[in-house]
Amino acid sequence: MAFDIEMIKEVYARFPERIAAARKAVGKPLTLTEKILYAHLTEGPASQSYARGKSYVDFQPDRVAMQDATAQMALLQFMQAGRDKVAVPSTVHCDHLIQAEIGAEKDLNKAKDKNKEVYDFLASVSNKYGIGFWKPGAGIIHQVVLENYAFPGGMMIGTDSHTPNAGGLGMIAIGVGGADACDVMAGLPWELKFPKLIGVKLTGKMSGWTSAKDVILKVAGILTVKGGTGAIVEYFGEGARSLSATGKGTICNMGAEIGATTSIFGYDEKSAAYLQGTGRADIAAMADAIAAHLTGDDEVYANPEQYFDQVIEINLSELEPHVNGPFTPDLAWPISKFAAAVKENGWPAKLDVGLIGSCTNSSYEDISRAASLAQQAVDKKLNAKSEYTITPGSEQVRFTVERDGFLDTFGKMGGVVLANACGPCIGQWARHGAEKQEKNSIITSFNRNFAKRADGNPNTHAFVASPEIVTALAIAGDLTFNPLTDTLTNSEGQQVKLDEPRGLELPAKGFAVEDAGYQAPAEDGSSVQVLVSPTSDRLQLLDSFPAWEGTDLKGLKLLIKAKGKCTTDHISMAGPWLKYRGHLDNISNNMLIGAVNAFNDATNKVKNQLSGEYGEVPATQRHYKAAGIGSIVVGDENYGEGSSREHAAMEPRFLGVRAILVKSFARIHETNLKKQGMLALTFANPADYELIQEDDAIDIVGLTEFAPGKPLQIILNHKDGSSNTILANHTYNEGQIEWFKAGSALNLIKAKA
Ligand code: SF4
Repeated sequence: MAFDIEMIKEVYARFPERIAAARKAVGKPLTLTEKILYAHLTEGPASQSYARGKSYVDFQPDRVAMQDATAQMALLQFMQAGRDKVAVPSTVHCDHLIQAEIGAEKDLNKAKDKNKEVYDFLASVSNKYGIGFWKPGAGIIHQVVLENYAFPGGMMIGTDSHTPNAGGLGMIAIGVGGADACDVMAGLPWELKFPKLIGVKLTGKMSGWTSAKDVILKVAGILTVKGGTGAIVEYFGEGARSLSATGKGTICNMGAEIGATTSIFGYDEKSAAYLQGTGRADIAAMADAIAAHLTGDDEVYANPEQYFDQVIEINLSELEPHVNGPFTPDLAWPISKFAAAVKENGWPAKLDVGLIGSCTNSSYEDISRAASLAQQAVDKKLNAKSEYTITPGSEQVRFTVERDGFLDTFGKMGGVVLANACGPCIGQWARHGAEKQEKNSIITSFNRNFAKRADGNPNTHAFVASPEIVTALAIAGDLTFNPLTDTLTNSEGQQVKLDEPRGLELPAKGFAVEDAGYQAPAEDGSSVQVLVSPTSDRLQLLDSFPAWEGTDLKGLKLLIKAKGKCTTDHISMAGPWLKYRGHLDNISNNMLIGAVNAFNDATNKVKNQLSGEYGEVPATQRHYKAAGIGSIVVGDENYGEGSSREHAAMEPRFLGVRAILVKSFARIHETNLKKQGMLALTFANPADYELIQEDDAIDIVGLTEFAPGKPLQIILNHKDGSSNTILANHTYNEGQIEWFKAGSALNLIKAKA
C-alpha cells in the first residue's frame, strides 16, 4: 500500500493550485466533479473551461482496475507496449469466471480447475508487470477496490461497467474498455468527453426499512436507463452526509443502470470512518487536510440549479423501500404499490429465489441488516419459503460476517453462501431447471435484471431491491408481501410481523481476515515468465500489427456493406464468444457475423470476390487474408455504437481489413479503430454509400499526404469497368496519423520505449 500513499500524496499536493486555476477558468464556484476532473488534466492546471457534453479532454487517472474477463485482452495488449512495469497502480480481480452451483468451496475449486490457464496467465502477467493480483475467491472487483484502493478525490478507470462503485468514497471511477486500460497502464493520457452534471440533493434521513439501495432505485425510476447518459451524477445535501460510505457505494454502483458516466459523493465523516475502519487512517488524515477541496463549493450546493444541468431532490425521510423490475432496472415500484403491480401484470407472485450480495450490496452493513431479519425468521418460527443465497463481496467481509455469526444465522434460515464472486449476477449460475424456461420470479440485491441475465431463462422475472427487502420477501416466499404492513403465519399458526431491520455500518470488533487473497507483484519482474500455453484455445499472445507500407491502398475487396444498426455486438458478438476474449484468432471467428449485408439482407452471408460464392464473413475475410489481399468494410450511421470492447476493432485489423468507411461512427469505436492502426473514414457525402456495389475493388488515395482535416480520395472500381471517385473525411490528428503509420498506437509506444 506504500505505493498508494505516495501516489495519493502527489495527487493531493496538486489539488490547491489546480482547483484555483479551474475556478478562474470556469469563472464561478465549482462542483466536486469539476474539481476532481480539473485536478486530473494531463496538461496541468486549467487554462480554459471545457464545454460540458462537447469538449474532449485528456485526463491522467490515478489507478486502473480490471476484472478477469476483460483483463485478458487488456494485458495481452499491454505486453505489446514494451514497458517493464505499469505506469499507474493497477490490479486484477478474479471474480467473473466462478460459476455458482452448490456452495462457496466446491464452486470455487471447480472454477480454479476449469479456468486454470486464465488464472495462471493473469497471475503471471500481473507478477511480471507490477500489477496487484486478487486471486479467485478474494472478492468482487468493486468491493475489493472500495475496501483497499478507492480514495476521495482520486480518478480511476476500470474494465467493468460498475467501476463507479468507488464514487461512494469520493472517487471519479469510470468503466472503460480494455484498450483504454492498456493505454493508461502504458502511460498514455485518457480521453473523456467533458460530462454533463446531474445534481441529486438528498434531504432528510432514512429510517426503518429504507436503505441506500432505495435511493438509486428511486433515481433509476426518475431518470430511466438512458437519463444519465454522458453525465456524472453528484449527490449532496444533509441526507448524503447521513449515508454510510458503503451505502453511497451502492448508489454509485447502480448509477451504471441509468447510463451515467459515473456518480460521486463528497468526502465527509462517513468516508473518514470507512477509511479508518478499513485500515487507512493515514489516508483519512490526508483527506481531512484538504477536505474543502473534496466536496463541492457551498454556493453550488446552496443554488444547485445554477451549476448543474439537471437537479433532482429526494427526501430520505419520506423515501419508501422500492422494488424495481421485472426485466429492466428502471421500472420502479414503491413497496406500497408493488403487490398491486404484481397482480395487475400477472407476474408470478410466488417467489422462487432471493439472492443477496454482489458488488452492489455486500457490505458489512448490508449483511448485518439482512441477518437481523434472518434471525427474526428463526426466533419467530418462520420457515423461509424461497431459496436464499448470499454472495459476499470480499473475503474480508465474508470472514468478518462469519466471525460475527451472521453466516450461521443465514444457515439456520436455509440460506446458502456462495463464493465471493459475481456468480448469478453475471449469469454464472447453474440454476437447476432453468433450461425448462418456466415462468418464475426471483428477487436480488444486484443491479441488473435484464431478461436472461441471471439464469439464461427468458421467463425468469427478476426484480431488484435492497438486501433487507429481498430477505423479507424470501422469508414470505411471496412477492405481494409488504413487510412494513403485513403479517406472516409461523409454524405454530400464529400471525407474526417482522420488525425493522437493524445493522451496523462497520463491525464493532473491526474487520478481520486470514487470507484476503492478494498476491503482490514481484519487485523486479524481469525474469518472470508469462504463462500462456501455445495450445490454449482461450489465450494467445499477440503479435504486433504490421506498419503501414508507405503507399496508397489499391484494390481492396469489399468485404461487407453493412446496412442499418451495426453495434459492437454485431461486430464482435458476446455470449458464448466471451470465452475467447483472450484469443484473438479464435474470437475473430465472430467478426461481423451479426451485421446485415445490404445486398441480400442476410447476416453472415457475403460474396467472396475470389471464388464468386457466398460464405460467412470471417471465412471470406480469411480467404482474402490468405491471398494477401486487403479489404474494406462499409457501414451505415453510428457504426460501432454500444460497448467499448476493443475486440470489435482488433478482429478486423487482425484478419486484414484495412479500412472502415461509414456514414458516421460511434466515437469510442472510431478511436479504437485508430488505435489498432486501421483507417476509420466517413463518407464526405453520406449518399455515396449508395454507390458501393457488391463486387467493388476499392482504392484509397492520398495516404502519402495523410494530414489532419484533409479528406482522402476513394475510387470505387466496379465490376462492369466503370468507376466513381468520392471523398472520405477523417478525424485523425497528427498523433493518430503516427499510430496509423506505425501500425498501431502500441507499436508507437513500444518504439518510444
Ligand atoms: S457482481 Fe455483478 S455487477 Fe458486480 S462486477 Fe460482478 S457481474 Fe458486475
